[in-house]
Amino acid sequence: MTSLNDLDCINLTKRFEETLAVDDVSFSVPRGSFFSILGPSGCGKTTIMRMIAGFLDPTSGDIQIKGRSVLDTPPNKRPVNMVFQHLALFPMMNIADNIGYGLRRRGFSKQEIDKKVGDALERIGLPGIGNRQIEQLSGGQKQRVAIARCMVLEPDVLLLDEPLGALDLKLREHMKVELKALQAAFDTTFVYITHDQSEALVMSDQVAVMNAGRFEQLDTASNLYYAPKTPFVAGFVGDSNRWSGQVEKVEGSCVSVRTETGLSLRGTSRDPLAVGEAAQVFLRPEAIRVARTVEEVRDQENIAIGTVENVLFNGANSRVLLAVPNGGTVDVALPQSGEFAGLKRGETLHIGWGVAQALCFGGA
Ligand code: ADP
Ligand code: MG
Repeated sequence: MTSLNDLDCINLTKRFEETLAVDDVSFSVPRGSFFSILGPSGCGKTTIMRMIAGFLDPTSGDIQIKGRSVLDTPPNKRPVNMVFQHLALFPMMNIADNIGYGLRRRGFSKQEIDKKVGDALERIGLPGIGNRQIEQLSGGQKQRVAIARCMVLEPDVLLLDEPLGALDLKLREHMKVELKALQAAFDTTFVYITHDQSEALVMSDQVAVMNAGRFEQLDTASNLYYAPKTPFVAGFVGDSNRWSGQVEKVEGSCVSVRTETGLSLRGTSRDPLAVGEAAQVFLRPEAIRVARTVEEVRDQENIAIGTVENVLFNGANSRVLLAVPNGGTVDVALPQSGEFAGLKRGETLHIGWGVAQALCFGGA
């Protein structure tokens, strides 16, 4: 049987004594795609990677590569390679010897190695620099060499465990675009783990959001952002204002919630909620319309008035924190039009948002 998936994890579970690190996780990664696992530190991401690579045995479940179980295959025989955060390049070897290292160990001839290393250097955009030393490379170039070193071995799946974690912000932003391009250039399946949502959202065809050993939602980046299925995903992916309260009224998927602070909000719930039930409401700062006059927000299904507590200027990500009567502090994104450039503490603003933008979930 030929599988269309490069990787299938089936009911994968790993228990370390009393810790259930990975709890019945199943997923399939289609051939040639970019798959990410996104979750907070300690949720079990590395444990999944180590099981796929063969460094750890699952407590139960199966791992299949191209449709065949690899549980009985030792790590060095599995068609997978792993790139670590600390790239583990050999500083005393030149670039070509680093990239060719695995090929030499596998007994390829010098001629074959030279050809494969030359091809890989072309593909990572660093042709003809094989004789240089590792220390002569920038952080981003080292990253590319670390990937090339794996790719010459032609793995079916490349595993990347927080590979950008040690880089500074600017380089990380750049490498996000670059990694996606490298994945396309090598046409290989990437499984990428990170606690940084923007890395996962930008690069991936599919993202699994992981929490406490389980997958909360496996989806496209845009569905995770616009249609989170659980409160954890709503809170973890992107920024949100969050209120807890009680359901006051239900009309189909439209729910009215009175927050603990006493504000009445109307939002949308994908699961049926009952009057009196505890609920949480999530509202993104960028989903809120903000204006100086109430007329400008009158057409919105929810409106509120607020006093400026703080202006957080940050270019395209500028925010204003508004004290809303009975609503606490509300984080609102400022539009890029410049009309709020001179905003001062103590000014009054009007905000509004649609029912569809306020996502409600049952539970406290
Ligand atoms: P992440 O990569 O998401 O930060 P890990 O997979 O490293 O998380 O760890 C998941 C959980 O399993 C943590 O609670 C961690 O302490 C525990 N754990 C990981 N490896 C071991 C081990 N070898 N022995 C015992 N507990 C472990
Ligand atoms: Mg980890």
